Amino acid sequence: MGRIVMKFGGTSMAGSERIRRVAQIVRRQQAAGHQVAVVVSAMAGETDRLVNFCREANPLYDPAEYDVVVASGEQVTAGLLALTLQALGCKARSWLGWQLPIHTDDAHAKARILDIDGEAMPQAMAGGEIAVIPGFQGVGNDLRITTLGRGGSDTSAVAVAAALQADRCDIYTDVDGVYTTDPRIVAKARKLKYVTYEEMLELASVGSKVLQTRSVSLAMKEGVRVQVLSSFIDDDATPADEIPGTMIVSEDEMDRMMETHDMERQLVTGIAADKNEAKIILTRVPDQPGAVAHIFGPLANAGINVDMIIQNVGRDKGETDVTFTVPAADLLRAQTLLEAQKSAIGYNRVITDAKVAKISVVGVGMKSHAGVAATMFKALADRGINIQAISTSEIKVSVLIDEDETELAVRVLHTAYGLDQADAA
Ligand code: ADP
Ligand code: ASP
Ligand code: MG
Repeated sequence: MGRIVMKFGGTSMAGSERIRRVAQIVRRQQAAGHQVAVVVSAMAGETDRLVNFCREANPLYDPAEYDVVVASGEQVTAGLLALTLQALGCKARSWLGWQLPIHTDDAHAKARILDIDGEAMPQAMAGGEIAVIPGFQGVGNDLRITTLGRGGSDTSAVAVAAALQADRCDIYTDVDGVYTTDPRIVAKARKLKYVTYEEMLELASVGSKVLQTRSVSLAMKEGVRVQVLSSFIDDDATPADEIPGTMIVSEDEMDRMMETHDMERQLVTGIAADKNEAKIILTRVPDQPGAVAHIFGPLANAGINVDMIIQNVGRDKGETDVTFTVPAADLLRAQTLLEAQKSAIGYNRVITDAKVAKISVVGVGMKSHAGVAATMFKALADRGINIQAISTSEIKVSVLIDEDETELAVRVLHTAYGLDQADAA
């Protein structure tokens, strides 16, 4: 007998009928002999609706009050799931963020979980009661309700699994695992049986929204075993304990798996696209020590994350163009800041473009193999796709391209790295 945390996302919780399906899946997991805690998201679309109400009420909304509003979506689904489980004859109760409690810092709308130290919930679970926890919410030091940032229920689930020392954290969603790329964009995407924490972390951070980035870093730090699987299943589907989905594993585990199954590591594991970046070009920046610090210092102080950077070959007269990307949501703020610093930086013009996309290829295999970037550049060039900026890490290469070419680029790269499913159309 083990302890399992099950998390259900927005599509899985959208409406009474689906909640009933979820309750049946939960009951089945308990019947397999486990203690069960369930973390739920708000119904699909609900959080967007609540965010809009906040914007309409006050465009410069106070994040603490925003949290009061947006956290309510998960309260509704947690209560409904507990009621539905009771209707199926199970013992169940909801535990709101402040009741457990899930302590967070006070960074409203993007709070971080500090700890979950409640005793009452594990005791209730040991007595056969199913614990239902609204994801996304916690309670700050100031005892006010907080939320963890969009997609945060994944992080709630992993944190609960770590606190309960659960045997596994199953993330149920609307696809049956982690794929080589978003299966809704590329029909030939292939399901991965295993992916390493490191790769999943990188994939999530470059736009693969199947898991919130923070949930992966927390799982990696705490050693939580995470499986991604589908909630859209029939009664005769393979039980979760037999791992029908994708398991996130450590590098060592992956190496062992590869050896046992006599498999070769792919150079590239997955491809992700992110349309939420914007490009800024500053023209004719003085080509001298300190110039770049004048640009990026103020942006960093304003909490704006700069991602890709290129400094063009110096023009004559000791000037150069500097190109970089920031989150699209911060573009206006970044532009305003740079304009205020115009004389300090000494540039000529600021040019912005939000119609860009970052395409990234990720794979632990590239640590030990050269040529991954070259394959990428050639495949894109062959299709006439222009690369506007490049950045790399040990296990990732990213390029910035025109947003209109996103789907084409992902498909072309998917084929170029041999990731296409053999039997797909
Ligand atoms: P939930 O509401 O369950 O949290 P999300 O919408 O946040 O679900 O995440 C699931 C979605 O992630 C899928 O519907 C899919 O379109 C998208 N996705 C993006 N990249 C991938 C990938 N590599 N593998 C699987 N799904 C992906
Ligand atoms: N409901 C929240 C959101 O839509 C949290 C989540 O679903 O993970 O962002
Ligand atoms: Mg999600």
